[in-house]
Amino acid sequence: MKTHARAVVIGGGVVGASVLYHLTKAGWTDVVLVERDELTSGSTWHAAGGMHTLNGDPNVAKLQEYTIKLYAEIEAASGQSCGVHITGGVNLAGTPERMDFLKLACARARYLGLAMEIITVDEAQKLFPLLDKRHFVGALYNPLEGHVDPAGVTNAYAKAARNLGAEVYRHTRVTGLVARANGEWDVVTDHGTIRAGHVVNAGGLWAREVGKMAGISLPVLAMEHQYVITGEVPEVAASPTEMLHVIDFEGEIYMRQEGRGMLIGTYEKAGVPWAELETPWNFTHELLAPDLDRIAPSLEVGFRHFPALEHAGIKRVINGPFTFAPDGNPLIGKVRGVPSYWVACGVMAGFSQAGGVGLTLANWMVDGDPGFDVWAMDVARFGDWASPEYTHAKVRENYSRRFRIRFPNEELPAARPLRKTPAYERLKARGAVFGSAYGLEHALWFAPPGMEPREDVTYRRSNAHRPVGDECRAVRQATGVLEIATFARYEVTGPGVRAWLDRLLANRLPQEGRISLSPMLNDNGKLIGDFTVANAGRDRFFVFGSGIAEQYHRRWFDAHLPDTGVTLRSLADEWMGFALAGPRSRELLARLTREDVSKEAMPFLAFRELSVAGLRAHVGRISFTGELGYEIWVAAQAEVALLEAIVAAGTDPGLAPFGARALHSLRLEKSFGNWAREYRPIYTPAEAGLDRFVDASKADFVGREAVLRDRAQSPSRRLVTFVVDAGEADAIGDEPVWHDGQVVGWITSGGYGHCVGKSIALGYVPAPVTVAERGFEIEILGERRPATIAREPLFDPAGERMRQS
Ligand SMILES: Cc1cc2nc3c(=O)[nH]c(=O)nc-3n(C[C@H](O)[C@H](O)[C@H](O)COP(=O)(O)OP(=O)(O)OC[C@H]3O[C@@H](n4cnc5c(N)ncnc54)[C@H](O)[C@@H]3O)c2cc1C
Repeated sequence: MKTHARAVVIGGGVVGASVLYHLTKAGWTDVVLVERDELTSGSTWHAAGGMHTLNGDPNVAKLQEYTIKLYAEIEAASGQSCGVHITGGVNLAGTPERMDFLKLACARARYLGLAMEIITVDEAQKLFPLLDKRHFVGALYNPLEGHVDPAGVTNAYAKAARNLGAEVYRHTRVTGLVARANGEWDVVTDHGTIRAGHVVNAGGLWAREVGKMAGISLPVLAMEHQYVITGEVPEVAASPTEMLHVIDFEGEIYMRQEGRGMLIGTYEKAGVPWAELETPWNFTHELLAPDLDRIAPSLEVGFRHFPALEHAGIKRVINGPFTFAPDGNPLIGKVRGVPSYWVACGVMAGFSQAGGVGLTLANWMVDGDPGFDVWAMDVARFGDWASPEYTHAKVRENYSRRFRIRFPNEELPAARPLRKTPAYERLKARGAVFGSAYGLEHALWFAPPGMEPREDVTYRRSNAHRPVGDECRAVRQATGVLEIATFARYEVTGPGVRAWLDRLLANRLPQEGRISLSPMLNDNGKLIGDFTVANAGRDRFFVFGSGIAEQYHRRWFDAHLPDTGVTLRSLADEWMGFALAGPRSRELLARLTREDVSKEAMPFLAFRELSVAGLRAHVGRISFTGELGYEIWVAAQAEVALLEAIVAAGTDPGLAPFGARALHSLRLEKSFGNWAREYRPIYTPAEAGLDRFVDASKADFVGREAVLRDRAQSPSRRLVTFVVDAGEADAIGDEPVWHDGQVVGWITSGGYGHCVGKSIALGYVPAPVTVAERGFEIEILGERRPATIAREPLFDPAGERMRQS
């Protein structure tokens, strides 16, 4: 056994083997995989091996395509068969809502370059003769579905990696991890210790335990999962070609051919967690006791929908555990605060996802950047708040809803409320309908008196449409108040703060008492953050950003902080705040403070410490609504007092509370982009229209060289605003943009602009087509709706209301 390696991958399931292969392919050949037992001995060996490209996140869907197409490559590189059967798949809808869901998935596939097709029930039956047409209304055909041999795939990855120089130690258990001062690890095994430059936790069913070895608690939980193999089905045995892969959403079952019968799996509603507290180390190549009663309701639906199966009998039942993260997507990446420790776990669809997970993780480790937009899989999307209890509730919910529709305006109920701000009850009493962002409850909109505070889930405009419109109009006509607890806030202090922020952020830093907006870029000049920076003087800055990205940004901050001279801390628990926005917001603020907040004393982008309602507050004159506006931050204990004072003073200026839905509408009218929508690490500032916030005349900042390179040519795509002739459903994001009959781009967010009376969508299209006056269409729920590019923001294009008032 080696005593040193550049990286040690812990776990020889399909995920660890793929990571090992991709590391060697990226040039790290001094790498080792350590497996407690035989390869595949966790959840991999008993998997059904099904694979497909459907995923709620387009970036993950694209990586699933990569995984499926990789099998030919690893077969060639290893000489090991993966047992690939690309049969194609039929995803069956039993309701009109499910058809909407499939149309959305199909439309999204278009801009990803994935060939999917909406087909009729008759066509579906031709492809899959076992179905009873009466139960279905339509289907999605996906040519890139099928199944593989789990052991074949895992061994192919491992052999291909070995051929490139990697070593694989089987029957070797990692028993401990000891961090060394220089960032390396001592990987302690029952056969000796390996000094490793990097450690990858691909521990699958034991990922939690391997996490604990490094002092971290990973939000993963295993669930029992069952599939059955039927006896011979005459129609299957007689079929000249292999049966297609099938998902029946209403039956909550998936199916494929196995021998002369079928394999039927189900995500039953009453799913059962496995090894809730600790995974036993002696569990190996084992199955769990079958529990047919638990899956009987789904099987019964299956027998009704596919009558030929009813009399085939059940030959075998497989019950095995596999792990999930709270939202069902993998957990990958670098763990903040633990040097050189990487995770690749919570992979619930290893045969669709392990290739993409391996590729992006290896890129990240070798080049410092995953090379793709992996936000939906990034371990940093969860913070410390994702406790084992939260994970438990969410994983169960996610499992039970695996084949259920998640509507775009749907907020799932499990593990809520988890984190509440002090003002939560007050907002609730005002009729707030809450959503959860990064585990924090925040108001989406306010039900007016007499209306139940509950939103109907739909792909179309909901019952919230009218009240949200009223909130928007209140902001534009008088004043609105919005709780801004979902914004991240950091205090950065110390003698080195100016130099550090100047290097970290792409824009010039503000003068004392001022605010500036600044993108944060990675070395490739891509957008990894979008911040408001306030200079409070005396080597003290406040930085505001997206709350959901707190862990993601802090991981980057930590990696770039100098040893001394700069201190950064999150104020998320210490500061709470409200935004006042609207033409009368100054009048309202003036009622709350004796200090001068006139236009001259407090111009646009001013930042001051003020006494507001007798409370010490930090106030910035800034607004995401396009109106005159202020963001007021106070100590968390003072939040309720501040809200009470605002409400008391607000009667005359016509104050109305507003929530995230109204903010979304108002920012669309202003063409303001948002983090995780328009601004993501696949876009450059020039593409996103943020170039004016990048000061390349600064001597040095992260990403400067890439910016200069980019500026030598014009961007190949651009973020634009569309006005859509939308009908009853607005764009929500991820719809394809058509131009002259071709799919040319995609939508990042959309909605209704209540104050301009138009349906609006923001999206990226190739720069040359942005000059076109006509010919655009946005595919919403399967219909191509005419759209035109708005050349300037639809509301107050000169920005006078926000700046000049
Ligand atoms: C019944 C069933 C059906 C399934 N069907 C499908 C399907 O059709 N399609 C699909 O894509 N997915 C399916 N899955 C899910 C699939 O099995 C998982 O996505 C996949 O196996 C996850 O692989 P992994 O490498 O992350 O984890 P694992 O397979 O659990 O691998 C982890 C490995 O790490 C090793 N290990 C852990 N700790 C240590 C340590 N301290 N030292 C050394 N080694 C260690 C373990 O021994 C194990 O081999 C199914 C799962 C089940 C249970």
